[in-house]
Amino acid sequence: MPKETAGGLLHIDLSALASNWRTLRDNAGGAEAAAVVKADAYGTGIEQAVPALARAGCRTFFVAHLSEAIRVRAVGPDATIYVLNGLFPGTSPVYVEHKLRPVLGSFEEIEEWAAFCRSQGQKREAAIHVDTGMNRLGLTVAHGLTLKDRAECTDFEVALLMSHFVSAEESDNPLNIRQIESFKAVRETLPGVRASLANSSGIFLKEKPHFDLVRPGYALYGGNPTPDHDNPMSAVVNLEARIVQLRWVEENGTVGYNARWLALGRRRIATLSVGYADGYPRSASARGKSGEELLAGMVVVAGRLCPFAGNVSMDLITVDVTDVPEKDIQRGDTVTMIGGSLDLDEVGRRAGTIGYEILTNLGRRYARSYRGKQG
Ligand SMILES: *Cc1c(COP(=O)(O)O)cnc(C)c1O
Repeated sequence: MPKETAGGLLHIDLSALASNWRTLRDNAGGAEAAAVVKADAYGTGIEQAVPALARAGCRTFFVAHLSEAIRVRAVGPDATIYVLNGLFPGTSPVYVEHKLRPVLGSFEEIEEWAAFCRSQGQKREAAIHVDTGMNRLGLTVAHGLTLKDRAECTDFEVALLMSHFVSAEESDNPLNIRQIESFKAVRETLPGVRASLANSSGIFLKEKPHFDLVRPGYALYGGNPTPDHDNPMSAVVNLEARIVQLRWVEENGTVGYNARWLALGRRRIATLSVGYADGYPRSASARGKSGEELLAGMVVVAGRLCPFAGNVSMDLITVDVTDVPEKDIQRGDTVTMIGGSLDLDEVGRRAGTIGYEILTNLGRRYARSYRGKQG
């Protein structure tokens, strides 16, 4: 898409992605560093992110859906690929066709995979997921402890035992240690099986629960895995929006749908060509009065932070730019929506959500450009 035709410009830095992967690997105490590339590599694009990560040295990839795994295979011929959301009934042949590995999360899935391997006369690799506290996917710990006695587990190769943290970004949450202990107990019954517990934040826990393989996602893309400390990761995503109009709103004028924002004096408003149809959350709307400190969206205009004014609409966002010298901005200029001090975590917080949701909703109308393609 030519840049001039788009309302938003999304820049994705693949060198920063590769450098983040190396940082995570170097913090993983010698464990293998995989990459979680579900949800289109957290919105950055599987087809671009996977080759960049592979060039950096990453060999193992996790996705949520089988359809995503097929896309990873197309650009990662040598990759080891796991599908986190489990084995849907009847899909085993698709795994074999594309050399993919299911993450089995119940005895039904284990039995189905084992039966398929028996029928093929080949022991194929799969991971087993044990639930240590999420109550979402995976065998219970009690069931996990019986795996060593289950005959079906000899029909295939248990290539990985894994579990997932509930709140690793809260470094002092006692749940972390409870999960580590439960996971260790299951692991001890399966000697020789590789083990994986840590997501991005798990890598940085003082308990160092790295085991044999770590599974970062968010931090690869620049999200802060240590929210209580400075972000050790580099920014991967930068989003700019174009100003389509600048206007003055007189005192007591309102801005946007439902007139939820009131100008207490004469205010200058910039209208940006990005809206909730681009995945920018409507919950970042500013409902109140000009000059109030609202927890709402912000953008950087000519080097200054400027607050949203009024509701985010489908295709447009209105911003109060009164504090920016009039001569410093004009129609057609771009402003920064994600980047600099407005990092993913801050944009998420200002929209009442998390940076993960901001990333994975990055819109399809943006003109995307990739930097550092050669790794
Ligand atoms: C999404 C996911 C990850 C990656 O988590 P981040 O917090 O993004 O690092 C790791 N493991 C599992 C099972 C996941 O679902």
